[in-house]
Amino acid sequence: MAGSINGIGMTSQRTRERMLTRLREQGIKDEVTLSAMGSIARHIFVDEALSIRAYEDVSLPIGFGQTISQPYIVARMTEILRAGKPLGKVLEIGTGCGYQTAVLSKVAKEVYSVERISPLLMKARSHLRELRMSNIKLKHADGTMGLPEFGPFDGIIVTAAASHIPEELLEQLVVGGRMIIPVGTEEQTLYLIERTDKPGSEFKKTKLEAVKFVPLIGGTS
Ligand code: SAH
Repeated sequence: MAGSINGIGMTSQRTRERMLTRLREQGIKDEVTLSAMGSIARHIFVDEALSIRAYEDVSLPIGFGQTISQPYIVARMTEILRAGKPLGKVLEIGTGCGYQTAVLSKVAKEVYSVERISPLLMKARSHLRELRMSNIKLKHADGTMGLPEFGPFDGIIVTAAASHIPEELLEQLVVGGRMIIPVGTEEQTLYLIERTDKPGSEFKKTKLEAVKFVPLIGGTS
């Protein structure tokens, strides 16, 4: 029976429904994003001991000093990236445990996701394999450089806080493409960047809200 996976019902469809109700109360309106999050078992992305907390609106540790983002921020970033339209090719920087990647795979045609910590990428790979998602390509690399060989992208989502907006990522956006990125060190702000064809104002930046992410770090390990 659905809901009895771990014997206490905390991973059930009903628990996910409650998460969706809370996301709606927090202002998430995009039904495509909500339905994607309603269809993905979030608890498989965290260690079993934490699975009971997987649907709470908190970030949780995933090892190597990294975290899985809270459901609200995953929903908000996905909603903004979509802007009410289906997405083609999307690049995610910071795969972590792969939960945001899984959500993206439901709302985009193709998803490329880059992670700098190799063992985390291996974990993400096994979680995503469990869900049989076939439109995802994972890469072990420094995401600050983007993935020029697979770009340009319709959307870029950065899930770690950058000290500045990497030029390489801007260059890998199509005209009409959107990038969402947290910027800052102590205080962080989520930015939306839209690439336009207007000479002189090619990149339109919009400040969205205060956020808290782990830092974007150059190099791999
Ligand atoms: N998207 C994840 C969030 C993971 S936390 C989720 O769904 O919850 C952010 C991740 O970004 C960490 O795993 C961290 O290792 C990774 N990261 C940080 N700097 C990076 C870089 N330069 N390139 C690729 N990944 C990076």
